[in-house]
Order: sequence, then structure tokens, then C-alpha cells
Amino acid sequence: MKKIFQYIAAIAIAGVLQGCASTTESGAIGLQRSQLLLVSSESLNAQAAEGFQKLTADAQSKKKLNTNAKQTQRVRKIGQDLIAQTAVFRADAKDWAWEINVFDSDEINAFCAPGGKIGVYTGIINRLKLTDDELAAVMGHEIAHALREHSREKASQQAVSNLLTSTVSAATGVNGGLLDMGTQMMVHLPNSRGMELESDVMGLELMARAGYNPSNAPRLWEKMAAASGGKQGLAFMSTHPADEVRIAAMHENIPKVQHLYEAAKAQKAASVRKPAVQKKKTKP
Ligand SMILES: [Zn+2]
Repeated sequence: MKKIFQYIAAIAIAGVLQGCASTTESGAIGLQRSQLLLVSSESLNAQAAEGFQKLTADAQSKKKLNTNAKQTQRVRKIGQDLIAQTAVFRADAKDWAWEINVFDSDEINAFCAPGGKIGVYTGIINRLKLTDDELAAVMGHEIAHALREHSREKASQQAVSNLLTSTVSAATGVNGGLLDMGTQMMVHLPNSRGMELESDVMGLELMARAGYNPSNAPRLWEKMAAASGGKQGLAFMSTHPADEVRIAAMHENIPKVQHLYEAAKAQKAASVRKPAVQKKKTKP
């Protein structure tokens, strides 16, 4: 048993020392933060896919899945537009098994689980009366969490913390529950403030490149703040405080990506006017 702990400790320490890599490229926003990544993506993605499958099946059985065809189509279109831009941050994301579902619920909520499983609740769309830009802002933010693998990072941080507990437990003969480390806490721990802010900024770039106006993103969070007096959706808003820091950071970063939006919009307009010529022009 002691050997196992030594082995795990060695892996963890090696991981911490190597430190750490980054899951994504830096993009126009210049995001640079190395991450502690000890836990594998595969196990987390598999758990997330299973959880999403259950949630979907449950909603389906209650007739609460994608009930409004027009709304589902709108959410999926915006999602696909954003997903098409993810290669800027990581090349492998285009091969993920992305899924986008709309769940009937008054809750103000949206998520993108590890590996690209996106859920948007009707509560956030209807109660906040989201425009396409605002919907792109919230979905872009959630997609950024998945691209950055924040759940995996949290699980890795927790693994180190559990390791310390377990090492102490091994010495004292008390079971520290090391084997639970990868499974228990991953999606349930709140993201750190830093993770939230970098998802905001990465989300801005994704939406800008996809042709949604990043200048309208702060409005989403203003609406969120205004709605925070309600009962439903408090969980999302407690983990996503729409405060001055968040909104100020967003305003600070919008100028870095506004030109990407202008370019995407111009390209869209040109392709509508002259589809054939524009194609040739953009792909010499
Ligand atoms: Zn978030």
C-alpha cells in the first residue's frame, strides 16, 4: 500500500513540477496561464457524456427536451457558429462529439460539460429575453470553460489536495478516500474567479469571430444581475457573479476582439452579395 502512495506522489510531484501546460492557444486576447493537469481528459469527458445522456433522456421522458423547434434551431445555430471558431484556441476541438440541447426549465442556466456537451435552459432565454448576441455570449463563455478544461484543472487541484490528505492518512492508518479523487468533485466545485474571467474573455473572442457583437456581451451580465432577485437560477448566478469586476474586465477586453467581429460581419455581408467570388477571394 505504501508503494502505491509513493508512486502516486511521484506522479503528482512530477506533474506539478512540469507544471503545467496550457489546454489552449492564446488567441487574439493573449490568454496565457499554465494549468495543473494531472487527471486525464478521457475519464472526465466520459463521465460528462454519460451525465449529459442521462439528463437528456430524463428531459425527453418528461417531454421537456427541445420542445420548441424554432428555439432549438436558434440555439444550435449559434452554438455551431461558435464551435466553428474553436480551432483558434485548440485544434482538436473540431473533432469533439459536440451536442447541443435545450431543456425546458424556468431555471436561469446554461452549461458546456467537458468534451462539448452543451445545455441551455429555456429559463435563461425567456426570462432574460436574450438577443442572439447575448445568447452567443453565454454559450461562448460556457464553451470556453470546456476548451480550457477547467473541470479537469479543478479535479487535478483536488487530486493534489486529496493526495496530501491520503499521505497523512497512510501515515496515520486512516483511509483518506484517494480513489474517489477523480470522480467526486469535478463538475461540482465552483470555478475560480480567474477561470470565470478567462472564460468571459475567451467567450468574447469566440463570439466576435463567429459574427456576434462582443460589445453586447456585458448586457447579458447586466440582465443577469437585474434578475438575481428571483428565486430560480440562483445557483448559476452565485457561481457567476455579475459584478463590476466582471463587467469592467469585459469592457477592457472588447477592443481586442471588436475588429474580429467587424471582419466576420463584412465577410458575411460580402458572401451574401457575391457568394462565388467571395469564396475564391477568401481561399486563394
Ligand atoms: Zn462560468
